[in-house]
Amino acid sequence: MSQTLTNLVGLDRDELTAVLVEIGEKPFRAKQVWHWIYHQGVTDFAKMTTIAKPTREKLADNFVVARPEVSREQTSSDSARKWLVKFDDGNEAETVFIPEEDRGALCVSSQIGCTLTCKFCHTGTQRLVRNLDPAEIVGQVMLARDSYGEWPTPNGDRLLSNIVMMGMGEPLFNYDNVAKALKIIMDGDGIAISKRRITLSTSGVVPAIRQCGADLGVNLAISLHAVTDELRDIIMPINKKYPLKELLQACREYPGSNNARRITFEYIMLDGINDSPADAKQLARLVKGIPAKFNLIPFNKWPGADYDCSSDKAMSRFAEILNDAGYSAPVRKPRGRDILAACGQLKSDSERERMSLLKARRAAGIEDDAHPA
Ligand code: SAH
Ligand code: SF4
Repeated sequence: MSQTLTNLVGLDRDELTAVLVEIGEKPFRAKQVWHWIYHQGVTDFAKMTTIAKPTREKLADNFVVARPEVSREQTSSDSARKWLVKFDDGNEAETVFIPEEDRGALCVSSQIGCTLTCKFCHTGTQRLVRNLDPAEIVGQVMLARDSYGEWPTPNGDRLLSNIVMMGMGEPLFNYDNVAKALKIIMDGDGIAISKRRITLSTSGVVPAIRQCGADLGVNLAISLHAVTDELRDIIMPINKKYPLKELLQACREYPGSNNARRITFEYIMLDGINDSPADAKQLARLVKGIPAKFNLIPFNKWPGADYDCSSDKAMSRFAEILNDAGYSAPVRKPRGRDILAACGQLKSDSERERMSLLKARRAAGIEDDAHPA
């Protein structure tokens, strides 16, 4: 039955007000319902005790407060946690929580798969792609809070303190839904994670970077990964559309960035490809004038990947050059490797199974076409 009922999660305040007015409620009701859904984390209308019983029943007759289904929850030996999230149409995406000492970041997906085909990224090899809608994006945050029992929205110390839009997908190719979801997440009367604790990572969709800065003002992370257009064109095809010069200009203009709030440049360390001392020096030159910091990401190899991770020596030498130029440039420690939760490994299990089936068929000499996956 629930398929026919409207899910209230993912509606913005105006939309929530509109659907409540449609069933004969006064507009003020939206504020109450919003509080129960996003501050208290309640999914059952019967528990919305500040609302009169007949009204609660009417709400339950018309609406649901739904989360995406969790197909699987895994916790890694280093305490990272991963949820394989299943949406109503059966598609799956992944959400990962990376705990730090007194806080932690939730890595949220914005799409099923990704239309971009960055050469080093496992997500980019997934065939099936669609945008996640606002309910599916906000739902990932809500189910993570369910999992850690962090309702009602904690005032101070919270485990789930930060959000990074760094899961599956390119968030700026799904801008409208991501923006709507983030506005819900930032709303102070609800989930209340401030824009200072939200970071959006992009491969460099220049026009949407500008829009994101103007509308949302969240922290920006750029997946840079190369210091020349020649190499970036090869490993990140989006560079052909928005080359380095334009991308860095958009970063220079990004509002709200300053020395206390820097733009993060992510740089995957690929052995013999982009990890020379000359690359590091060029990198420091490229970002001149931008309040920047770096995250050096050891490449996570996946089966079939064309690259290897740089040596420890190359990575520390690279970091040192950036440090000497005045930049913070930690080599990021991969987390959650044992549960395949690390950056660039996110790919739905169904897709992994499909690929291994395909391989098994090939090994057995069975034509792929005869068995479309
Ligand atoms: N599409 C967005 C956000 C998702 S990717 C983007 O590209 O920024 C999140 C981060 O994981 C990006 O910095 C991406 O470059 C990185 N990544 C992708 N594949 C990886 C791999 N195999 N090893 C390490 N990091 C990877
Ligand atoms: Fe997409 Fe980001 Fe992976 Fe590139 S790195 S394929 S943009 S998810």
